[in-house]
Amino acid sequence: MSNCIVVGINWGDEGKGRMVDLLTEEYDIVARYQGGGNAGHTVINDKGTFALHLLPSGILRDGVVNILGNGVAVDPENLLTEMEAVRANGVSITPDNLKISDRASLLLPWHRELDGLEEERLKDKKYGSTKQGIAPFYSDKYQKKTILAGELFYKEELMEHLQDLLTWKNLTITGVYNARPYTMEMIEEWLDNYCEKIKPYICDTGVYLKDSVDNGKSIMFEAQLGSLRDLDYGIHPYTTSSNTIAAYAPIGSGYPGAKLDRIIGVVKAYSTCVGEGPFVSEMFGEEAEKLRAEGHEYGAKTGRPRRVGALDIVATRYGVEVQAATEIAITKLDVLSYMDKIPVCTHYELDGKRIDRFPFPTALNACKPVIEYFDGWKTDISKITRWEDLPENARKYVLYIEREIGCRITYVSVGPERDSIIIREV
Ligand code: GDP
Repeated sequence: MSNCIVVGINWGDEGKGRMVDLLTEEYDIVARYQGGGNAGHTVINDKGTFALHLLPSGILRDGVVNILGNGVAVDPENLLTEMEAVRANGVSITPDNLKISDRASLLLPWHRELDGLEEERLKDKKYGSTKQGIAPFYSDKYQKKTILAGELFYKEELMEHLQDLLTWKNLTITGVYNARPYTMEMIEEWLDNYCEKIKPYICDTGVYLKDSVDNGKSIMFEAQLGSLRDLDYGIHPYTTSSNTIAAYAPIGSGYPGAKLDRIIGVVKAYSTCVGEGPFVSEMFGEEAEKLRAEGHEYGAKTGRPRRVGALDIVATRYGVEVQAATEIAITKLDVLSYMDKIPVCTHYELDGKRIDRFPFPTALNACKPVIEYFDGWKTDISKITRWEDLPENARKYVLYIEREIGCRITYVSVGPERDSIIIREV
């Protein structure tokens, strides 16, 4: 069986969760490979409406096994809270359908607090963190100053390791931020209250994935955020602290040899961006208010209003390239139905010249959008399920995007529900 990955082409919030939820029918396993509980997927299906942060979207399909790979930032407390919320809607979560890599690093009790302390120190120069501890966590991971989930099974070594980390981290907490130090009692409480409860789910997910593929099973990899938030390829320093791009999925899932047969890039029919950083095609004022309201553009994790703008062809083309997408899903086309004229950012203007290649991140501040307008369709398209039934102007818009980004658009989503989708046959 072939493997597949669903990735975000832009800033995140493209609707990846809804695409994974749709496609999990065809896959046996859904694996998350990076990020933590700092963003969120909203998924609406026959079981209800779910805001998923850390749990893979496959948790909502019976029979699908879900993996949190070694590249994921596992926060035991947040994970348990999310599991309870999803269970409350009648979804079963057991060690049979959720497996946490023994090589995944755990967020320690101080990571969330450190995020807040640093954003406070930065004041008006802050990065716009969701304060879930993700940046301090990944910095510590790369300094080898976290513990692996599997260490929970080695109590003696674990306690010694945690004592060392506590002594080291308190130097920063008290010395740099002048905050209250952590104690071993606090750590023990954390171990008892949260870590003990996730132990049944921890296993060697690498062996599980490899054996499953050898037995003919197929994997869907699920990304968090999008290309422009990738630590190496994104809009530094307004990126996330992990690699969101498809190429990292085999590494972060626990199966470095995994082959990605389909790379489905998700593009929203217009642009949105949460938090700080350059956003060339941003809209302001009434125009922005209207689009934000029509698209319900408020963060799944924080409830923050998302910044909105015209579809950015320059950024999207770049996103498609760095993801090496093999096909595209356009989402939220229905949201644009109210517009008379649909704005698209076709180029950037930089130093008096038109450019169509995404520039070095620092140069983005000086880029101005070149906007062209497409005729709208001014009719409800949310019940349409066949390509040929879409209004001509909607088809023209989709085909224009396809041509400009150089990648086939196979899915057009016209609503948040599982079945509000047009599949374009090859
Ligand atoms: P993700 O993190 O990429 O999965 O994206 P989010 O879940 O943060 O944001 C996507 C939002 O758009 C969710 O609230 C979805 O329910 C919703 N959504 C997804 N596809 C469509 C669509 O085609 N039309 C509409 N109206 N809403 C959609």
